[in-house]
Amino acid sequence: MTLDARRHRLWTAMGLGPVWQQRNPAAPDPGADDPRAARIARLEWDDLVAETAQCRACRLGETRRQAVFGVGYRHAEWMLVGEAPGAEEDARGEPFVGQAGRLLDNMLASIGLTREGATPQSVFIANVLKCRPPNNRNPEPVEVAQCQPFLRRQLELVDPKLVLVMGRFAAQALLGTDASIASLRGQVHHVDVAGRRVPVVVTYHPAYLLRNLGDKAKSWADLCFARDVHERATSG
Ligand code: URA
Repeated sequence: MTLDARRHRLWTAMGLGPVWQQRNPAAPDPGADDPRAARIARLEWDDLVAETAQCRACRLGETRRQAVFGVGYRHAEWMLVGEAPGAEEDARGEPFVGQAGRLLDNMLASIGLTREGATPQSVFIANVLKCRPPNNRNPEPVEVAQCQPFLRRQLELVDPKLVLVMGRFAAQALLGTDASIASLRGQVHHVDVAGRRVPVVVTYHPAYLLRNLGDKAKSWADLCFARDVHERATSG
């Protein structure tokens, strides 16, 4: 299968278009022909956490230690989205707790944000996939598709003012594009969250930055850009 065909399959599996792009209010609910997605779309926070924890919709449910729902303030103005839990996250049940997580915390602190507490500076952090792919392999389209209702519902319940998406995989999955991260950075994208157009800013994945120290300055620029976009989104 060509790369394009694979990407097309991935996006189709995720329900891209009706899910992440501007939705026509007259269009049917995207979960209408998928009872599981429709049920997840109605869950409130605690039930969503419980449903994620017991999910066996794909085979990652057999190999993970635990599902990693997310961490942070459930009414955060900033929502961060990464790719999938790694080994440490799988063990501890929290996203971004390894070396990349420590870098992420420092990046957040550099613009006055934190994963702790419940304040306007507190963020919520989630991943596209809630379960660890074995050996940190790339997520499969079917895994992304089965997990997508959870992320969509998280976005609706958190209802952030800004989404910061980290890394090529998460950016391409969330935005439904095969564009390079270089071309996605420095622009304001949008996702539809329950009929609201929420701005999305793309930056590098912290794990990538650990291997490419030279790009840290660019990620600092992305954070400053995101801070400006957030300010615009919350002023007036
Ligand atoms: N990488 C991710 O994308 N998410 C995590 O939670 C950890 C590492």
